[in-house]
Amino acid sequence: MEIFKSLGLSAEMLKVLEKKGFEAPTPIQEKCIPALLKGDRDIIAQAQTGTGKTAAFGIPILERMSEKLRNVQVLILAPTRELAIQVAEEINSLKGKRKFNVVPIYGGQSISLQLRQLRKGVDIVVGTPGRVLDHLKRGTLKIDKISYMVLDEADEMLNMGFLEEVGAILKQTPENKRTMLFSATIPDEILKIAKTYMPDYDVIKIKKAQMTVSTVDQIYFEVHKNDKFETLCRIVDIEEEFYGLVFCKTKVDVDSVAHQLQERGYDADALHGDMSQNSRERILSKFKKKTITILVATDVAARGLDVNDLTHVINYALPHDPESYVHRIGRTGRAGKTGNAVTFITPSEYRKLQVITKRTKADIKKAKLPKIQDIIKTKQLRIKTKLENIIKTSPLEKYREMSLDLLKDNSPEDILAALLQHSFQDDLDVNNYTEIEDAVVDMKGKTRLFVPRGKGDGLTTKKLIEIINEKCKISPEKIRDVLILDKFSFITLPFNEAEIVLSFFKRGKTRGKTQELVFVKAKKDKNR
Ligand code: AMP
Repeated sequence: MEIFKSLGLSAEMLKVLEKKGFEAPTPIQEKCIPALLKGDRDIIAQAQTGTGKTAAFGIPILERMSEKLRNVQVLILAPTRELAIQVAEEINSLKGKRKFNVVPIYGGQSISLQLRQLRKGVDIVVGTPGRVLDHLKRGTLKIDKISYMVLDEADEMLNMGFLEEVGAILKQTPENKRTMLFSATIPDEILKIAKTYMPDYDVIKIKKAQMTVSTVDQIYFEVHKNDKFETLCRIVDIEEEFYGLVFCKTKVDVDSVAHQLQERGYDADALHGDMSQNSRERILSKFKKKTITILVATDVAARGLDVNDLTHVINYALPHDPESYVHRIGRTGRAGKTGNAVTFITPSEYRKLQVITKRTKADIKKAKLPKIQDIIKTKQLRIKTKLENIIKTSPLEKYREMSLDLLKDNSPEDILAALLQHSFQDDLDVNNYTEIEDAVVDMKGKTRLFVPRGKGDGLTTKKLIEIINEKCKISPEKIRDVLILDKFSFITLPFNEAEIVLSFFKRGKTRGKTQELVFVKAKKDKNR
């Protein structure tokens, strides 16, 4: 929180950020927030998704907006409806008690609903270019008095052929507004837009760190969000001696994961960035002495952590940028030992992982979740070794008499079995584990996609496969479990192919033409 405070944010905003569990600004936020809080220069910021860019523009905009106006104050353009919804949600969650109306406007949603929302009075509009332009043409949206204009994922908007629309929209905005352009890459076309519509701009870039981590074995698991905790337990349990850091995104998550681990009997604790120095030191010292073997932390809290022999670093949540990934996993595999970095990704995060892999040139291999039976077997083996060690090294005299006494009336097998049950019943109980294998293994790294078209629209299995094959060059045998219902359909594809289909078919428009088919990820467990 200290760094957020030093950026000059209001008490209300600091409260919101505290509640959201943000501890410190991400690199792009650290640069953008102060730049946008003061002055009136336009900015171009180079940032990918997942870097916290929405808050980078959302926080300062909310701080500078005025509550009493009756016109739209902010227009944010985003390339896809998913992003528009996501951005609107994030801004809503950042506004706190301020009475701003944030409305996402995108193709595919009923115009009348949008009209109703617009009529009520809107302060912030987050929209896709096509639909925003529709409303401008109808006169149902006015942007001639906006103070802030954001072009989010500008390069994506260009790739999707929205250049003309974006230009037409920008022409209807007032001259004295402030424009912020966010883009993962800054090709010449982006600079051209900037030169035409942004008279005076600064460029904000985040320095790329040098990235190499060669002594770390890197794997990832595809898990659904709700199965992350169970997955973590399995990874810890299969290890002979797990000694590691678990990274979460927010303080709230850190608390929750640490608490759940403690409840399940693990020696775990949480590390917060804004904990008192005393408690921080107490927990760190326990971790160094291995009284605590699992430390759940945010990136900020783990900064400067000096522990050498970690067996594991777990990315319970993906980091904000590739640099943080390298920084996180560099905490294992030190002092000549091989370390393990385990990353959890949910199906929708596959693309983010690819960005990390590409930028860090890391070899992150997909791994299979340890099976319950294997974990139990490993635990049994460990118990066996432990007992054999005790037999070899301890005098055991104190127990000999009791042992002979028990042997009088019972067989050695029975006594031993009873002792094992008495000591290890909980530890060896399969019921400790919930079945997550089905959710993940059943899908075998595949994603279920939903298409809002069905028999009623003349769609057939053959047609659907042909379209996907023709447009995305995906061979028919990769397309599984096609289910064509009356109004909609489902298909299953491997992660990679699903991403290709999603990004091809998600757009509202392709080069001026309305996209006929739209694919989205199916909700968990639905029709699977
Ligand atoms: P974005 O890059 O805007 O899509 O943000 C990615 C995710 O990071 C969102 O879920 C945000 O809520 C979260 N996030 C943004 N800033 C921070 C921060 N400073 N600390 C923790 N999480 C953040």
